[in-house]
Amino acid sequence: MRFSQLVGRTLREISADADTVSQQLLLRAGMVDQLAAGIYSFLPLGLRCLTKLEGIIREEMDAAGGQEVLMPVLQPLELWRQSGRDAAFGDGLFTLKDRRQREMALGPTHEEVVTTLGGRYLQSYRDLPALLYQIQTKFRDELRPRAGLMRVREFIMKDLYSFHADAESLDVTYKRLTQAYHNIFRRAGLEAIIVEADSGAIGGKDSHEFMVPAETGEDEVLTCEGCGYGANAEKATAVTVAPALEDPMPMEDVATPGKTSIEEVSEFLGVAANQTLKAVFYVADREFVFVTIRGDLDVNEVKLKNLLRASDLRLAEVDEVSKQSIIAGAASAVGLKGIRVIADASVTSGQNFVAGANRPETHLRHVNYPRDFVAETVADISLARAGDGCPNCGVPLSARRGIEVGHVFKLGTVFSQKLGANYVDPEGNLKPLVMGCYGIGVGRLLAAAIEQNHDDKGIRWPLPIAPYQVHLCPLYRENTAVAETAEKLYTELGDLGIETLFDDRQLSPGVKFNDADLIGIPLRITVGPRALADGNLEFKWRSESEAGTLPLAGAAPAIVAMIRGALRPA
Ligand code: ATP
Ligand code: MG
Repeated sequence: MRFSQLVGRTLREISADADTVSQQLLLRAGMVDQLAAGIYSFLPLGLRCLTKLEGIIREEMDAAGGQEVLMPVLQPLELWRQSGRDAAFGDGLFTLKDRRQREMALGPTHEEVVTTLGGRYLQSYRDLPALLYQIQTKFRDELRPRAGLMRVREFIMKDLYSFHADAESLDVTYKRLTQAYHNIFRRAGLEAIIVEADSGAIGGKDSHEFMVPAETGEDEVLTCEGCGYGANAEKATAVTVAPALEDPMPMEDVATPGKTSIEEVSEFLGVAANQTLKAVFYVADREFVFVTIRGDLDVNEVKLKNLLRASDLRLAEVDEVSKQSIIAGAASAVGLKGIRVIADASVTSGQNFVAGANRPETHLRHVNYPRDFVAETVADISLARAGDGCPNCGVPLSARRGIEVGHVFKLGTVFSQKLGANYVDPEGNLKPLVMGCYGIGVGRLLAAAIEQNHDDKGIRWPLPIAPYQVHLCPLYRENTAVAETAEKLYTELGDLGIETLFDDRQLSPGVKFNDADLIGIPLRITVGPRALADGNLEFKWRSESEAGTLPLAGAAPAIVAMIRGALRPA
């Protein structure tokens, strides 16, 4: 490709709200163009990277036994009502009416459609297992589109769905697909870690996410260096420091004038935070919920939302709390009537807690569960934190930020039961198809690749997903020998199958090198008058700081060897 003809230009300045590195670099390198909030065009350079990623993904899905299909984006809303996910997605689901007033949805994902296909074409145990996948556009009306391609409203996802006769067969495929995902990320030159993930309110069992560690990631991941445990903070469990064992003592009032927070109360009474009980108030699908948890811990709202099977969960407003006659700052579940109470498992981890007395300026000492109050449910709804003990081995967990690039999920029979997708087993019984789903956000993966591979000058594409392999950079200054050599080399490289971006523009070396660094093609070949006079070319890997020289004679095959060598798996 001749740079002079390439559509898309490199930019020095971009809009100030481009706040992540990948967003800035994608825009500055002329890879994408923003049309509206969370809606982008891929320009020629960006599309080449996307296509390469898709190629790697397609190869790995085929190798794992996937069969490629293409399902419609436009779907009857009725299908989403049947699965109940019109409500689960809420405003995130784009809906519209056709000219006959039939309600339609733009697919945010394709479980509903693929389950319908499964029910039609996989009717016998002999048809199983079967793996269908596609690389297709999804629509989600995200509340806050952000960070360029990271969270957009129209995006390309690879989604594979597997169908099985039983859970054992699903396990085998789940393992195989997990391995395929590792292969994809490795081949694309990315470090991604696998962690346990929340399965959401829809149900299903095991679920894992693939995270690319990056400061700009929206997710917090907790990992253990002791045993390799890793989980999304939404899901993670941990061992925390429980108060010392004591005999339960009689409950008694204690005056706590002006002391309302856990910090103030525990300091005033001289007890540790883990010897207190905290009250947190939520509204779950319009219902008021009183949550109690040990004072040193925080509520994990994802766990709570799943426990309550709520589609909407938020902290209660001040007036909603006072309407319940609750005295914030001195509230506890002791003696509470007519309010739903949920307790974190930590309330059973000790004795003689300090808790609110439900009277102003007063607390209770020696509150014991279940002697002094009972909750509707006691379950783990606490947030695991860095420094807490690993649930498997006790070693302190560490936290880091990550970008969720992929998600694998054992769905079980949730969708097949709701949508009536059954198969006939060898005994002639009708059974629901057992399913798994496996997604990768292709555009988000591209953005993550940049977050992980860049420097202050620009992108450093991993070779397998780079827009071109070689950036051919002649320094003309009216030198015809340079021009002729570069033209000849460009043709030779093309004939040898090397993807080359040929910077045929009459610009200064500084401008050309800056653009080359910004676009980030892995190997730069410079044809300059000085080296040429000695019969040499200059080469420089984008990932290295030093340049080297290469004899002009036999340069094309030598460059082919360099590219092949770099592409060979380590
Ligand atoms: P998130 O938690 O980031 O909103 P999700 O868990 O809802 O994502 P999934 O339904 O698991 O997303 O979709 C599979 C993959 O699709 C994700 O792992 C991610 O890589 C990608 N993806 C999801 N939402 C978006 C989006 N708005 N923009 C770009 N990629 C997305
Ligand atoms: Mg996900």
